[in-house]
Amino acid sequence: MILSPVKKQVTDSHILLSSQITFQTPSLPSMPDTLWFKVAREHEPYISENSLNPFLLAMLFPAMLLGEPIQIMGPVSLELLEGVYSVQHHFNSWFPELKKVTILPDGDEPALPNKIATGQGVCFSGGLDSFYSLKCYLDHPNPRLRPTHLLTALIGPPLPWQREEMFLQMLAHYLPFAHNYGMKIVSPSSNACDFSEKLNLWWGHIAHGVITAAAAHLYPGLWQRVVIPSSHYGFFYPFGSTPFTDPLLGSDMIQLVNHGSSHTRVDKTLAVSQWEPTYSLLNVCARRPHPVMNCGQCEKCWRTMFTLLCAGALERYTTFPYQTNQRGEILLPHWDPTSLIHNDVQAIHQTEVLEFAKRCHQHQVATAISQALDHYHQNIRHQQPTPANRETYSWMR
Ligand SMILES: [Zn+2]
Repeated sequence: MILSPVKKQVTDSHILLSSQITFQTPSLPSMPDTLWFKVAREHEPYISENSLNPFLLAMLFPAMLLGEPIQIMGPVSLELLEGVYSVQHHFNSWFPELKKVTILPDGDEPALPNKIATGQGVCFSGGLDSFYSLKCYLDHPNPRLRPTHLLTALIGPPLPWQREEMFLQMLAHYLPFAHNYGMKIVSPSSNACDFSEKLNLWWGHIAHGVITAAAAHLYPGLWQRVVIPSSHYGFFYPFGSTPFTDPLLGSDMIQLVNHGSSHTRVDKTLAVSQWEPTYSLLNVCARRPHPVMNCGQCEKCWRTMFTLLCAGALERYTTFPYQTNQRGEILLPHWDPTSLIHNDVQAIHQTEVLEFAKRCHQHQVATAISQALDHYHQNIRHQQPTPANRETYSWMR
């Protein structure tokens, strides 16, 4: 794989940074020939115009899946290169279909941006992990670590670059919130996920980690440090974003921090449910059919709604759809337990919620989750054809 030098195009509102990607593998499915990142024109002083750091990260997994060495025709950070070598070892051991590949750099360190970074970034999707980490850093006793910017990127499912209109509507809801806390929202977009999708790299479990890191590397003049809210909770499982791998994906200019893995998802839900601004903004939905409202049907919605329900906090939220009876009590929906859980990670999360429901004596919720888990383990678990799924997770209990 060859990453060509960065090409910069400027419009009134945006800067488009692109690199032509040349694959060596014959008979590939039709792939884009160019990887691009789009940043707002106002952020021009904060970018490194010739840096291939984001491009290397975005193309790392496609190259590893194809077993292609990566030839980089331009500047890339030496520290990032070392990190990428280390991180390949982890991912290869967890997902053997991702092969370790040679990286052939051909350039100096990336050009410095016009600005010297002073900011602190937090990756922010509006979901549970985002709000949890953001609150921790807003309350941080060291004022130098308090967030100045939220990185909310249009880079992959459920919001790939093609859903820009929905994304802008979503941002409009988050902007007043960010403003109230003295933060700005940075919202680049990219077609990076198109390459992953063509190769059936599973975005939600694998590809999202390095592509999120790539987005952070777009602004070396903006922030010194970017917090990636952990989607990993107090126990280990192979995943695209982990406390072991994210910190390796920084550079001499940007430190990446994976935050929050010491707490379970139930812990985080309970903590976030005490924070009033989340009541009209929390969006955990894997489908994102609406800029604000959760679908209330996907597994991520249900794991969160079950937890909030058991904690007596669901009625605080305006972003989850649910019905009540005449006495105002929340009704569990009529749902098909065979359709809730589709993979081991979802099963792990639902098991945690099940234990919480039992502790709260919420027998109806516990019964519903038990039925879904039983169905998953008996009928679905060993029928998953998705790459990096069955083989990788088969050792888990
Ligand atoms: Zn949903």
